[in-house]
Amino acid sequence: MTVRVRIAPSPTGNLHIGTARTAVFNWLFARHHGGTFILRIEDTDLERSRPEYTDNILAGLRWLGLNWDEGPFFQSQRLHLYKAAVEQLLERGLAYRCYTTSEELEALREAQKARGEAPRYDNRHRNLTPEQQAAFEAEGRSYVIRFKIANEREIVWHDLVRGTMSWRGSDLGGDMVIARASEAGVGQPLYNFVVVVDDIDMQISHVIRGEDHIANTAKQILLYEALGAKIPDFAHTPLILSLDGRKLSKRDGVTSISDFQQLGFTAEGLVNYMTLLGWSPPDSTQEIFTLEAAAKEFSFERVNKAGAKFDWAKLDWLNSQYIHSTPVDKLTDLLIPYWQEAGYKFDRGRERPWLEELVTLISASLTRLKDAVEQSQLFFTDTVEFSEEASKQLQQAGSADALKAILAALEQQPQLSADIAQEIIKQVVKAQNVKKGLVMRSLRAALTGDVHGPDLIQSWLLLHQIGLDQPRLSQAMSSTK
Ligand code: GLU
Repeated sequence: MTVRVRIAPSPTGNLHIGTARTAVFNWLFARHHGGTFILRIEDTDLERSRPEYTDNILAGLRWLGLNWDEGPFFQSQRLHLYKAAVEQLLERGLAYRCYTTSEELEALREAQKARGEAPRYDNRHRNLTPEQQAAFEAEGRSYVIRFKIANEREIVWHDLVRGTMSWRGSDLGGDMVIARASEAGVGQPLYNFVVVVDDIDMQISHVIRGEDHIANTAKQILLYEALGAKIPDFAHTPLILSLDGRKLSKRDGVTSISDFQQLGFTAEGLVNYMTLLGWSPPDSTQEIFTLEAAAKEFSFERVNKAGAKFDWAKLDWLNSQYIHSTPVDKLTDLLIPYWQEAGYKFDRGRERPWLEELVTLISASLTRLKDAVEQSQLFFTDTVEFSEEASKQLQQAGSADALKAILAALEQQPQLSADIAQEIIKQVVKAQNVKKGLVMRSLRAALTGDVHGPDLIQSWLLLHQIGLDQPRLSQAMSSTK
């Protein structure tokens, strides 16, 4: 079987999670069969399409690792093809010019509504005589091109996800508009038509797209027939729903891939999660896999009909698994942009080796890459704010003296190592005759402004390297006075 599939986003917004998930399924199917994955930008809606959205879509697909084999093709550069196809249908009497005005259409809809009927075009201009046509032209009416749909037709296809689907011609709203009038003569072609012309031209074998396109498929099948082309297979994938079962929408806040990236999801974690949105591998206990591994197993038999619920907790868990298994040097590369965006400065010893030590210190507690901003803030600011608990700790009897002794020891000992740090603490415990816990807690409060956090000795060493430990200890002591 020769597999040629495509993802066909409209650049009317940033790359949406639903489109990206459809791209994942197309990619997996293409790779499983050694086929071809094509990218087509559907930019015929001139008013709403924007080049920055195209850039966002291309960048998002690349970031996710959904590399395409052909394209990007732009519909706006292919208008000659659509024009030729419209002319062909007109010549063969399968389409016609319809001069019905918007007022007449509105009146028709009102009358249908009053009778309790669904709105549909009544095909009134299907058989105009040349004289009638000429009269409308003379009136200066503009026209649209309509494609004839026989009411009695039954349209049946075997959907790879949903099984046998069947529609009646009479349910499709009357003869369909395939192009609007425009200065170009034959007109501005519309979605359902250009998709078919392109899918034929690009020899698409399987149309894999969201189930919101099911009603379009019935219309498109009629167009394939009219254009004398082989009808591809169709797979309509389930929608992505919020946890409470609604369609995931802008109201849910985050819906575009670049938003997920900004929030700190890794490409691998996000794409892994997306493969599970509607599909499950044959071994359903297996949840962590690369796209390549998923491609080996992928088939539509394991794609659900029911909507896929978007589970943030699961995504977070998967993402943390990827973060924790990323080598330190690569993780450092991934974190630097988040620190930069937070305005952190990489001066005064905060260079690569130091950054990698910092990453080693915090990596185990990261769920999202962006967590590193908060978790490393204390290493990028000169002074810390003490939490309430930290302030309390610093008020404890013996705390200020212990810190003073540590500061004195540091002045004697400019080279700090883990062993030396432990030794200093030991000495202070002994000399002050206090509990080690008190010294450790006070030291943590002074250095980090908090009573919880990453390994204390390692944090201290990192602060020492950039000359922040002594000022912090002094700051803590003056705040306890
Ligand atoms: N441009 C359409 C969309 O973004 C493509 C639908 C299709 O795959 O046919 O939904």
